[in-house]
Parts: sequence; C-alpha cells; structure tokens
Amino acid sequence: MKPSIERTPSSAVPQAFDYRMTPYLESLLRGRPADDPLSLQFLPQEQELNAQAHETSDPIGDVPFTPVAGVVHRHADRILLKVAHSCPVYCRFCFRREMIGSKGEPLQGPLLDAAIAYVRAHPKIWEVILTGGDPLSLSGRRLRGVLTDLASIEHVRVLRIHSRVPIVAPDSIDDSHLGALQQPLPVYLAVHVNHPDEITDAVVTALQRLSAAGAVLLSQTVLLRGVNDNEDVLEALFRRLVCLKVRPYYLHHPDLAVGTSHFRVPIEVGQRLMRSLRRTVSGLCLPTYVLDIPGGFGKVPIGPMYVGARNASGCRQIEDPAGLRHSYPE
Ligand SMILES: *Cc1c(COP(=O)(O)O)cnc(C)c1O
Ligand code: SF4
Repeated sequence: MKPSIERTPSSAVPQAFDYRMTPYLESLLRGRPADDPLSLQFLPQEQELNAQAHETSDPIGDVPFTPVAGVVHRHADRILLKVAHSCPVYCRFCFRREMIGSKGEPLQGPLLDAAIAYVRAHPKIWEVILTGGDPLSLSGRRLRGVLTDLASIEHVRVLRIHSRVPIVAPDSIDDSHLGALQQPLPVYLAVHVNHPDEITDAVVTALQRLSAAGAVLLSQTVLLRGVNDNEDVLEALFRRLVCLKVRPYYLHHPDLAVGTSHFRVPIEVGQRLMRSLRRTVSGLCLPTYVLDIPGGFGKVPIGPMYVGARNASGCRQIEDPAGLRHSYPE
C-alpha cells in the first residue's frame, strides 16, 4: 500500500480521534467545500469533541462477545475476525473509532494462531467475516495466509471481507490481493460506500478486478446526515452499485460512537427513505435498513413496516408501496 499522508490539522480533534488520508482521497477531496458529502466523512470536525452521555467506546458491544483477541462471536454460525487494526483513512463516524488505529493492536503471531485455533475448535462456525480495521489494508501475502488457514478448516464454508479500501485506496489493490481471494470457498466482499461521488473511475476499475477475481460483491452504507440522508442520493448510489455488480446489502443506522451525534438522523428519516425507495427502484437496489442494538444484542431490520394490526374480522392490514391499506385474511 502507498504511504498515507499523516496531516496534522490544527484543531484538537486529531488528538481525540485518529486522522489519516490517502493520496488518492486527498486528490478527490481537493477543492470540495467543508460541507461536501465526502469532506464530511473524512475531514475532522470540531463537533467530534461533543461527546453525548449515551455514546460509548463500544457502541455495538463487541467487547463482551470477544472470547479471544480479535474474535467477536455473537451468533453461533459466524464470527468477526479483526486481523487488521488500522484503516487507510478514518471515517469520522466510525463505530470502532476507539478500538482501531492507535487504539488497536494488530493480530499477529501467537494471537492470530489463537484466533484461528478458536475457529477450528468451534464446529458451528460456518462463516468467518474479516472486518475492521480494514482487512484489505493487509498485504496480499498476509491476507492470503489468513484466508488459506481459514479455508482449510472443514466446517468453515464461507469467507466474507468487509472493506473500505476499494473506495478510499482503490489503487492499492494489487495482484497479490486478487490472488488471495482465490480460495476453494466462496468469498463475499462487502464494500463500505456511502455516496455516489465515491465511485470514481479508479473505484470502478477496482470493483471490476475484484469481481473478475471471483469475489461476490455486496455493499454496506451508513445513513449519515448531510451525506446521504436524501432519496436521490441513495437511489443514485444503489443503482450505480447494482450496475457494477455490487448488491446493496445493508443500510446501517449510525451507531452511538463517541462524538458522532452530528451525523445521526432519527430512525423515521431512514424509514421514510426506504419507503420511497421501495416505490421507485428495483428490489435489487434495496438494502435492508438495520440497527445494531447497543450492548451487543445484534442487528435487526428497523423497517419500514408494511404489516399492520389484525382487525375485528381477523384480517391483517397490509400497506402497499403507494401507501394504500389492504385487508389480508389469514
Ligand atoms: C454484523 C455482525 C455479523 C454479521 O451479521 P450479518 O447479519 O450476517 O451480516 C456477525 N457477527 C457480529 C458480531 C456482527 O456484529
Ligand atoms: S473503514 Fe470502517 S473500520 Fe475503518 S474507519 Fe471507516 S468505518 Fe471505521
């Protein structure tokens, strides 16, 4: 990977939270105003110093579900494996901002061996999800080592990688990364992307190469105030992704990470957006809108809901995409 530029913006924010930039993103951000959807995501803002009482350093409850270093085991059939501890760029709304970068530790040597041994010892683990720190920030050689070790475990049937590298450092994905994806198991790659302006020619090339290497591409998007809390923006983003063979998977309601309240919108906003998208776009373009319940209780879809209460004659009220109610006997 090309070296990142470690700029030192003048405010106190970078002392509280890591800041990092790639040469690629630096040039993409050049000339954009401070309230631009890309600037907002990647450049530190004073509001990050406004911590709220209900914000926590572990907003989705990774810590209580960590049996060995680097593993989060909340659901019997799948685990998160945090191999990398850093990201090429730190999103200002990151839900793991207090666990990665300078606050994280790489999973190497005996620690990595112990994590792989944990997977081997738990036959119900069907899927292993490499997540952030950004797995694609590892060298292709290290990535290949980890994926190959996991693929050699008989009960592991699916590998998944969650990454923002194709968006923030598309030029850093080299042949060794593509080679690492050649595994005897299906490899799903969920790309974190929030705005259509993130999809440049370089990103298109990176996605095409990843797809050609055999990865099944998904996307995950964080709903963010001022970035994508807008129907046209989400529609353009999801249509673009589907055309690039990336299936929108999750729209995340933002987590209660410290100093991120300026990014959050009420849940009704997300529900309203999903409701209008249901009317206007192909089902292929619709992710599931989810909230990760604080405390480690898992992710759940948060609507909108189309099924109403049962009426006196036992029929359900079902709402159609246009908002009309229909009676459904059961
Ligand atoms: C998000 C998450 C997963 C993956 O959830 P899916 O709904 O399968 O995408 C798995 N484990 C943990 C701990 C998670 O937070
Ligand atoms: S890529 Fe993911 S883990 Fe890394 S800073 Fe952004 S949100 Fe956090």
